[in-house]
This record gives sequence, C-alpha cells and structure tokens, in this order.
Amino acid sequence: MDLRTWLTSGVDAIEGWQATFGPFGRHASLLISDEQFARAFSSFAERLRENYPFFHPCYAGQMLKPPHPAAVAGYLTAMLINPNNHALDGGPATARMEKEAVAQLAGMFGLATHLGHLTTSGTIANLEALWVARELHPGLGIAYSAEAHYTHARMCGVLGVEGTAVPVDGAGRLDVGALDALLAGGRIGTVVATAGTTGLGAVDPVHEVLAVARAHGVRVHVDAAYGGFFTLLAGAGGLGIEEAPWRAIAECDSVVVDPHKHGLQPYGCGAVLFRDPGVGRFYLHDSPYTYFTSSELHLGEISLECSRAGAAAAALWLTFQLLPPTPEGLGQVLAAGRRAALHWARLLSDSPLLELYQPPELDIVCCFPATGPLAASAIDQASARMLADGMADTAHPVYLSTLRVTADALRRRHPGVAADTGGARILRSVLMKPEAEDFVGELHARVERLAGR
Ligand SMILES: *Cc1c(COP(=O)(O)O)cnc(C)c1O
Repeated sequence: MDLRTWLTSGVDAIEGWQATFGPFGRHASLLISDEQFARAFSSFAERLRENYPFFHPCYAGQMLKPPHPAAVAGYLTAMLINPNNHALDGGPATARMEKEAVAQLAGMFGLATHLGHLTTSGTIANLEALWVARELHPGLGIAYSAEAHYTHARMCGVLGVEGTAVPVDGAGRLDVGALDALLAGGRIGTVVATAGTTGLGAVDPVHEVLAVARAHGVRVHVDAAYGGFFTLLAGAGGLGIEEAPWRAIAECDSVVVDPHKHGLQPYGCGAVLFRDPGVGRFYLHDSPYTYFTSSELHLGEISLECSRAGAAAAALWLTFQLLPPTPEGLGQVLAAGRRAALHWARLLSDSPLLELYQPPELDIVCCFPATGPLAASAIDQASARMLADGMADTAHPVYLSTLRVTADALRRRHPGVAADTGGARILRSVLMKPEAEDFVGELHARVERLAGR
C-alpha cells in the first residue's frame, strides 16, 4: 500500500485525460516557482505538526482518524478535476459514482427502495431528514432521546419545530415507555432514534421505537451518523451486537450515516437516505441558473445543499470498490475495533484502579478512576487530571476524551458513588481504528498508570 505511487497514478491519469483536449498556456498570474512553493510549504508543514496523533492507536479520544489511502487517492485525483455534484452537468462521472455508492449504503441497511444522496456532514443530513419530516407533519413536534446529538435540538430551532427530549434508560438508550406516553399526547410527528450515541455508543431500540411510533402514526428517523456501519456486524458471532435494532432500520422512514466517521472517508461526507422516493417532491425548485441535461431527478434536485464536492463521492466510490460495505469488507475493519472494546471492557472490569462505566455496545468505552473516597467530585477531578497527564506524557502518551455525566446517571450504574455534586467528567475513548485491537493492552496499562499517580 504505497500512497505515493497511488497519487502519482492519479496525477498521471488526469494529465493524460487533459492532454486529449489540446495544449494551452497557463496564465502568468497563476505561476509560482518551485522555490517559492518550497518556502511556503515548509512553514505550512511545520504548522501542521500542531495536531494530536489521530493516526496512532495511542489516540483514542474523539471520532477522528485519517482516511484510508484509497479514499485519499480517489479524493485528490477527482479534485484535480473538481467536479460539483450539485447537478449532473457539474460532474457526470462523480454524480454516477455518488448514486452507486449511495445505493450500496441503502443495500447495507436493507432498504428495498430509497432516495438518497451524500451531504457535507451528518448535521446537514439530519437537517434534511427533519425538514422532510416537518413538511410531512406540519405543526407537529420532533422527539429524540436526551442523549441524542446536540444538533437535533438546534436544527429543530432552525426549522421552527418544537423539539422534545425523551428520557433515557439505565444504559443511555431512549426509554420506550416514556416515548409511548409522549406520543399518546398527539403533539409529536416524528421520532429520532439514535443508533450509536455520540457519547456512549448506546443503540436506541429502533425496533421498539418503530412499533410504538407506528401505533401512533408517527414517523421514524434513525440517526446512525456514527453507528451506521455497525449494521454490518449485527448478530455476528462473538461480537455481542444485537440484531433487532439494526434490522428495523429497513422499515424506518429515513436514516443518516456518516462515511467520514466509520466509512474511512475524509471530512465532507455524510449521507441521508429516505425509504420513500416520493419525498423528492419536497425538493423541487426552479432556479434559472442550474442546468438540466437529464429528465431524471439529478442530485441537485434532491439535496438541500447546492455545491458539494464530487471528490467526496469519488473517494467513497473508490473505497467501496476495495472495501465494500459488507460484513467481509468494511465489516472486518469495524469488527477489530469492536473486539478491542470488548477486550478493554474485560480489563477494566478486573482493574482495581479503574471502573468500567457501562458495558460498551459498539466501540466507545467509558471508564473512571476508582478514587478514594468514591465520589462524583473526586472522579471529576481525577478524570480531568488523567486526561491532561496522558497528553503530556511524552514517553507513553495516551489521548482520551472526557464525557460529562450527571451524578444520577453515575449512581444508576454505580450505586456506591457518592453524589456530592451534580455531575462528573468520566474518561471516554473511541476505538475506531482497527489497530486498537493489538494496542488495547498497552492502552489499558497506560491509563492504569495515570490512575495510579
Ligand atoms: C457525529 C454525529 C452527528 C453529527 O455529524 P457531523 O458529521 O459531525 O455533522 C450527528 N449524530 C450523531 C449520532 C453523531 O455521532
């Protein structure tokens, strides 16, 4: 796997294509000497060193990792053309690639029919799903769990729709009993189920949410921005990923997944899929300056955004040729992170220095130091210290993140913790790189050392 060779192939391919259009001179205003470039580039490269090592398994902080080299080669090669996927004429090749890659995503979720497209992000993808939901249920509100992504409440504000947070159960999943009671009030038109919360990686019981919602005539949107690709592992032996919530996605009304999280892509790649292609009617616009060469709905006609990087579609398409969204393909990448999470959970359960916050459902593992006394304020202080110490340790660095939990949530899982304050930061790690599988013993040793200081 040599990115240098692949990038050279990319430049060669595009230059070969360009050469078929005949020669022309570059304008003098754009010319830069190699010496000029080298000077600017060296300070540029130096500045980029101010980063955390997202590529390394000692970094387990946020949902961050570099894209797969195939995605990089695909993105940069297509970017030399710079197609715009807002319309077919903006880049016919990448528009087709987008449709094919989106169809693969729809197939992954088992959707029998779909209308969908890529977006710049999960936030925009969710916004589209909620916007369509509002158009279908005007005047009614949108419900999501108290641990849903913060952008749902914000986008309800943008859309002028009332958003309601539903309580969670003892594992951070939407409480279906509370949802049922809320829907009985008749003021909710759409429920958002999260398949993989950003904080804990908790999977809402999508199948139960769906049953309750249908009983009340309510729409269901699934936010699987983070967790979506775990559908490839649903029910797989030894991984402990319950099948029912993932299978139910095929019957829901819309779903969002972020290829720029678990799909090996660079940022700028979310996706929204609707089960009923008929929702395309809401996107109709009549702009005098977009072009039409096709009678089929093109991507610009089924997207809220206008300009979007065709290169993002190219990168996803090329990646899927090599690592398709199947259990044997991309599934194996996620399975390694999942095994790492299960392994770390066992190590944490056996540790005298650390407590597992709750069993991980996906590849996000949360723990906290077993402080003496075992109290929320002490846990908060120790977690913050460990986060800072881990990043400052140049010999054995470890990069985690903290998650703020309420004292109630903490005591619900660990009744022995004293609630001497309203909440605490605990340690959170996202094991989204498959290399975590081999590194997790070392990661645990480093975190234990931090706890023992
Ligand atoms: C990351 C995330 C989002 C937001 O997606 P962006 O691509 O960061 O805009 C929404 N929902 C969930 C569950 C997420 O994890």
